[in-house]
Order: sequence, then C-alpha cells, then structure tokens
Amino acid sequence: MNSEKVKKIALVAHDHKKEDLVDWSLTHKELLTEHQLFATGTTGRLLEKRLGLPVNKFLSGPLGGDQQIGASIATGEIDMLIFFWDPLEPQPHDPDVKALLRLAAVWNIPVACNEATADFIFTSKLLNQEYSRKIENFTRK
Ligand code: PGA
Repeated sequence: MNSEKVKKIALVAHDHKKEDLVDWSLTHKELLTEHQLFATGTTGRLLEKRLGLPVNKFLSGPLGGDQQIGASIATGEIDMLIFFWDPLEPQPHDPDVKALLRLAAVWNIPVACNEATADFIFTSKLLNQEYSRKIENFTRK
C-alpha cells in the first residue's frame, strides 16, 4: 500500500462530463502538479492538452481502460479516483464502470464521483500527507 505524500491519482470522465473535469482540473491545477496523474485514454489526452501536465494514459474506457484502472487499484498502483461518470446516459461499458467503483470500495481508496466531492477531497489536509488506508482482511471467510 502506498502511504506516501505524492498520490497516484486516476482521472476519468464520461463524454458529457469531460468539460466539467477539465474545468475542475484547471481550478486545482496547482495541487495536481504535486501528484502523479493517470487517466483513461481520451480523458488523459484531453487533460494533457488543456492542463499541460503529463498524464499516464490507459486504454480508452470502453476498450478496457476502466478495467486497467481497477486492476491498478487492486495492485496498489492507484491511490485515488476522480471519476465524473454520467448519471443520465447509459454506457456500453456499464459493467466495467460498476467493477471499477467496486474495486475502489474494496481497496478503500478515496473516490469522487462528482465535482463537490472532488472539491472536498482536494481541500482535505490529508491530500498532501502520508496516509495509510485501512484494508479489510478478506481472507477471514
Ligand atoms: P475515455 O474513457 O477517457 O477513454 O473516454 C472514459 C470512460 O468512458 O470510462
């Protein structure tokens, strides 16, 4: 588990939410520069272009990017998820979205599914501190 000050942050936005994520990221750009950024393909390319910050890109979400992020959460390579999913639009990869959110809950990482929650996380003093997440012992069953 990563308990370092520099967090590995995954950013994902569905198509109708991408502009909201870009606006939010520009607002918090100064803090984002202090961390390592990851994203699904299209979101990542957009953020790199508009923020001018390096972003480690996975595949596009519908092509497996959400699953790659989920796997990276499980292996301790992602510490936080900012996921602006679209509550008003069905997605072809809805099962992947659900799986990603499930793994984020299993591994107890902070998750923001909307701008207000992302604002609260980014104004938390924990953002730039070492933090050891409690992980449930799932082997007891
Ligand atoms: P995208 O994927 O960044 O490649 O558009 C996001 C998603 O739909 O999960």
